Amino acid sequence: MNIHEYQGKELLREYSVPTPKGIACFSVDEAVAAAENLGGDMWVVKAQIHAGGRGKGGGVKVAKSIDEVRSLSEEILGMTLITHQTGPEGKEVKRLLIEEGADIKDELYIGLVIDRAKQRVVMMASSEGGMDIEEVAANTPEKIHKVTVDPTQGLSLDDAKTLATNIGIPEGSVNQGAELLVNLYNVFWEKDASLAEINPLIVTGDDRVVALDAKFNFDSNALFRHPDIMEYRDLDEEDPAEIEASEHGLSYISLDGTIGCLVNGAGLAMATMDIIKLYGGEPANFLDVGGGATEEQVTAAFKIMLRNPNIKAILVNIFGGIMRCDVIAEGLVAAAKEINLSVPLIVRLEGTNVEKGKRILAESGLEIESAGTMAEAAEEVVNAAKGGE
Ligand code: GDP
Ligand code: MN
Repeated sequence: MNIHEYQGKELLREYSVPTPKGIACFSVDEAVAAAENLGGDMWVVKAQIHAGGRGKGGGVKVAKSIDEVRSLSEEILGMTLITHQTGPEGKEVKRLLIEEGADIKDELYIGLVIDRAKQRVVMMASSEGGMDIEEVAANTPEKIHKVTVDPTQGLSLDDAKTLATNIGIPEGSVNQGAELLVNLYNVFWEKDASLAEINPLIVTGDDRVVALDAKFNFDSNALFRHPDIMEYRDLDEEDPAEIEASEHGLSYISLDGTIGCLVNGAGLAMATMDIIKLYGGEPANFLDVGGGATEEQVTAAFKIMLRNPNIKAILVNIFGGIMRCDVIAEGLVAAAKEINLSVPLIVRLEGTNVEKGKRILAESGLEIESAGTMAEAAEEVVNAAKGGE
């Protein structure tokens, strides 16, 4: 699960990581009041969306007067912000963060990720903050310093000091910077984050080290033990199809192809997407209906898939193990009748009672293509999506 920058900064403050003072706002008037409340003579108006690259997209702007806070807030609130992480359709800005302006001397980078091969948290740090870290990694990998953390020890102050020194934190501030890094590791660890990025971490004119941005991802499987993090969930930022699917107990991920996939089991769902690609098609979604899908779930799954205007054909690929193929076929027929299926449907059933299942499909009077092997099913659905050549 993703959270907003202002929420990430709230968490950081809980762990004594210095951040600029800021107030989250939902309207222009609130933004103006926030700036007056913060005082000073410089503010930053920051779009709050679950995507990075906001600065380049025009979603982060510095204001030198209250009037400018108002005009920039009017401009940014409600805008469709397009960044390299939002996709071409962009994201509507519904929240702002108004912050006191920072006096930036140097922009650094800190990232925390989980290295699956090592089964450890890795802290990455670079002197090259404020820019795309992917470019730094590609062109000047020597400028990225890494520490692999032993989970039984946590990030040691010594390692943190070495990192702080390596990325150019001035000598007099190394202790404060190292303490910040340890606290950042602690929040990552204690809250079951899966990714954290402070880009930029800044050195101020008076040599303080401060987190100017905060990006966090959390492991959804661990959210049950963090009600405080769960409160940060913003459904506006999530795909409505995915939210609806989760309400029906379906694992659904939207993709940008034309072939809807309804499959039982995550492994089979992945294999189905692979074979669709092998035959030259593009899946419109990942969908795992689970081991014991009900008719209600199958109907919901069809409805969710069909709401996607890009969909040209649907492939159902079910292995009847615990579930019997005849039960699945009945569910499919009922669902297809209820929703008035408007695109070609190819069904591949295998497993218990497969013949009975196929007979139910054939006798349903619906235009359902029954496919034998997975390869045949993929070939048929790719052809159907291309207009049945
Ligand atoms: P991102 O583009 O989504 O990663 O948003 P950031 O929060 O990282 O902001 C982008 C850039 O805006 C930063 O790298 C800074 O250069 C700049 N910026 C952010 N806050 C301030 C500030 O308080 N003062 C100044 N002068 N620049 C800022
Ligand atoms: Mn940033």
